Amino acid sequence: PAPATSNSAGNPHFILEHTFGYTGFRGDQEAIINTLVAGDDALVLMPTGGGKSLCYQIPALARPGCGIVISPLIALMQDQVEALRAAGVAAAFLNSSLGYDEAQQIEGRLLRGELELLYLAPERLLQPRTLDLLARAKISLFAIDEAHCVSQWGHDFRADYLQLSCLHQRFPEVPRVALTATADQRTRREIAQRLDLANARHFVSSFDRPNIQYRIAPKNNPKRQLLQFLNNEQQGHAGVVYCLSRSKVESTADWLQQQGFNALPYHAGLPAHVRAEHQRRFLREEGVIMVATIAFGMGIDKPDVRFVAHLDLPKSIEAYYQETGRAGRDGEPAIALLLYGLEDVVKLSQMGATSECSEEHKRQERQRLDAMLGLCEITSCRRRALLRYFEEELAADCGNCDTCLETPATWDASEAARKLMSAVYRTGQRFGAAHVIDVLRGADTEKVRQFGHDRNSTYGIGADMSANEWRAIARQLVVRGYLRVNAEAFNALQLTEQCRPVLRGEETLLLRTLPKSAPAKASGRDV
Ligand code: ADP
Ligand code: ZN
Repeated sequence: PAPATSNSAGNPHFILEHTFGYTGFRGDQEAIINTLVAGDDALVLMPTGGGKSLCYQIPALARPGCGIVISPLIALMQDQVEALRAAGVAAAFLNSSLGYDEAQQIEGRLLRGELELLYLAPERLLQPRTLDLLARAKISLFAIDEAHCVSQWGHDFRADYLQLSCLHQRFPEVPRVALTATADQRTRREIAQRLDLANARHFVSSFDRPNIQYRIAPKNNPKRQLLQFLNNEQQGHAGVVYCLSRSKVESTADWLQQQGFNALPYHAGLPAHVRAEHQRRFLREEGVIMVATIAFGMGIDKPDVRFVAHLDLPKSIEAYYQETGRAGRDGEPAIALLLYGLEDVVKLSQMGATSECSEEHKRQERQRLDAMLGLCEITSCRRRALLRYFEEELAADCGNCDTCLETPATWDASEAARKLMSAVYRTGQRFGAAHVIDVLRGADTEKVRQFGHDRNSTYGIGADMSANEWRAIARQLVVRGYLRVNAEAFNALQLTEQCRPVLRGEETLLLRTLPKSAPAKASGRDV
């Protein structure tokens, strides 16, 4: 190795080798580092595990002054600072976990120019006291980590992040870099806008995670599906099982424990010490399955997560990508399994419809949900569709998703679709899927008799198929936009314009063939 002259010591490559012990840069790292060293701003989009940290750590060391890293995650800050100190870097953090004296000491080191990297939570940074402190120190750069937290559309939104645009006004000469693993155009534009990064160079890496195998299947006794997956393919592996609600997290974790798995619940309703303990066990012990709401995950840096299973539909492709991205950070094969059903669509549209957000916001949420459903229902390569959503084109089908590995069978569902559409229409477009299916199958229920639907012209015309099969058809028709679920009218199924050509026999409707029905459940209704 070359002798450490004062000249080479400030050289990014020298720092990469001598401080971090790596031989070469990955992807865009070098270009990003050069941009910041030159004093320009950058917006970095890189998938989880891509190596974002070095992109600001190295320029902070290469430039005079202290690099300020803004991160929303206290636990992650501590890990990073520990790792940096071990590598001989003068790094520290300021957050609420520190006592007054400790904080004073760090502030002193900053003002004396003894620190190379200082990590701060956004709310800390924004305190007038901290901003004054920074104004008296020499700052090499600002790094805004998890920058998608400025996006009001995302589920990681943090109001404090919005105010970070003040950095540009207060410290116009200090280069800034915003980093995120969230890739869609809208979020990207929002970050650039809200953080006042109009002149930043954009660095967009490939978002493909080739070692993750994507699998999406309709729910058909989801517990049994999960159990089969765990028993057949994931014995002793660490993984995350995502559920939409806290109660489902708890019941699923209980159930998995009864089945002999080392499963732990995690959601925002658990006491902080329980969450911390479960997170610790997930990171340190082998083969722990974390059953969690989306509260779990951001910044969890566990390399050997072998699977991520969703028992409920994520509300957008971004969310799906983020959550599945927690699998296989070590580059070894990992599986992302998603089980979804009609009731997910209903639940998510209800949550959307009843929220207090603006109409525009609801419309966008609905659009994002539709895109997610589209990804579930496509019969072509999932990875291509996923990456296309992030405006990235794969040259060929991936060969590592369920539709590539097993060409999905389709069947001509035109006749069945017409029956279902007729039943929806003839019952007045006022009833949910369960009742319409009862009518189709000629079921003898109280509700059928109450509304006289046993005398309806569509009563019993679909007795040849099981309720499960009808639910699957209804779901696919909803997903493809032939039927709409009206959340403001008890989730009534309604026809859309798109139905016409099918009803007139002018359009052939090919649907994905679904696995044969599981043994009917007692209620038969909770898909
Ligand atoms: P991200 O923040 O983008 O999720 P990290 O910065 O945590 O990713 O980096 C992921 C892993 O890759 C870390 O273990 C890091 O040390 C390693 N890494 C990053 N850059 C390089 C490089 N140029 N050479 C070798 N390993 C690297
Ligand atoms: Zn594929």
